[in-house]
Amino acid sequence: MAWNHLLEILREVECIKKQTPTTQADLVENYIGIRIHQLLKKLPQHMAMTCARLLLGLTSYLNPSFRKVASDSFGAYAVAANMRVPLGYLGALAPIITEISPERILYKKQVLNIRWGTVTSDQHPRAVIKCKDGSVYNADYVVITIPLGVLKANVDNMFCPPISPNKVTAIKTLSVGHKAKIFMEFDQPMWVWRDKKIQYKWHEGDLSSRPDFTKSLISMEELNGSEHIIIATLKGDSVEDMEKLTDDEVSQIMTCFLMECLGDNSIPKPISIVKTNWTTNPNFRGSFSYVPSGASESEISPLRIPLPKGCNEIPSVLYFAGEHTCRPDLMGTVRGAMISGIREAEQVIAAINQSAFEQHPCELLASC
Ligand SMILES: Cc1cc2nc3c(=O)[nH]c(=O)nc-3n(C[C@H](O)[C@H](O)[C@H](O)COP(=O)(O)OP(=O)(O)OC[C@H]3O[C@@H](n4cnc5c(N)ncnc54)[C@H](O)[C@@H]3O)c2cc1C
Repeated sequence: MAWNHLLEILREVECIKKQTPTTQADLVENYIGIRIHQLLKKLPQHMAMTCARLLLGLTSYLNPSFRKVASDSFGAYAVAANMRVPLGYLGALAPIITEISPERILYKKQVLNIRWGTVTSDQHPRAVIKCKDGSVYNADYVVITIPLGVLKANVDNMFCPPISPNKVTAIKTLSVGHKAKIFMEFDQPMWVWRDKKIQYKWHEGDLSSRPDFTKSLISMEELNGSEHIIIATLKGDSVEDMEKLTDDEVSQIMTCFLMECLGDNSIPKPISIVKTNWTTNPNFRGSFSYVPSGASESEISPLRIPLPKGCNEIPSVLYFAGEHTCRPDLMGTVRGAMISGIREAEQVIAAINQSAFEQHPCELLASC
């Protein structure tokens, strides 16, 4: 059904394009968004939800140019929906990655600092990137997608010359949230034996009187498609405490917690456990960004402005993408991260196509 509706909308778009060939891409995206919104409003709630999820997936993958169709059109539930991506995100990225020659993608390169000052416009490279392993790379354009937590920790040392004060303020103003997952594998899944599907959910604060990291638990449920793995999700301040414990200590605490929840002291310890470490991992330092209460859009928006700005003759050198640079309602989502990447890539392409930049020196590109 979703597919038929989308085809119908796409046919309408084709008609519009034929009649007015100069129609701009963003108007087309807007039109598709409005039509999807109208369509979903007509459907009963339970059908609208499924249809919205399918349309979200179809518009994202059918045609790359539709990736910017406003997410509002799908309804908030579709953005927050549980969707299984076949092959994980590798499946989503594979068509793009296969078009890039392998030697152009470098892994395990932790960037220590970026020198982006040049004196004149015809000076190349315009930026020099130094990595922890000692390697150095020259670039004319740099798109920075480093997570907000890492930027917060390193912003004072990472850029030479320093990035603009309003960008530093934005980085410091936005907040980083903490989330963790614990996967527990059981030899004999007690919840299937007893015909009791495990699915617990708590609000943040519900378990606040507990003495250990379990005070940050927000859910515990069977891993989708598995018959012997339970996945526990934690959110909040105690995530870091959990990450600092050994697997065995976490396993012990979670077993006691399960015994309490199920009222059964015979529950065995898991045979294996895997836990995430996004908060203590220096490459992440947290899980998602959010706008703290009291912060304003004007404080946050400089985060996504390329640098240097205000010099028309010479294109910017540093571009900022990643989930923390998208609009607030998409922060902390893959969709937000992806849209921000496309947004900055388009700016770089436009800058490369801008011929004037060979001629004029720009004082904003200070030497360093
Ligand atoms: C538990 C959890 C569940 C989530 N569930 C969902 C969900 O269901 N749906 C959804 O849409 N989103 C979800 N998200 C959010 C989603 O994963 C993120 O919003 C998205 O991955 C952000 O993408 P990004 O490219 O901005 O950053 P990242 O994916 O964090 O990528 C940043 C990259 O920068 C690298 N890096 C860090 N420091 C350096 C450095 N100094 N030099 C070079 N590279 C560096 C990191 O290693 C990393 O590879 C979830 C997140 C978490 C933690």
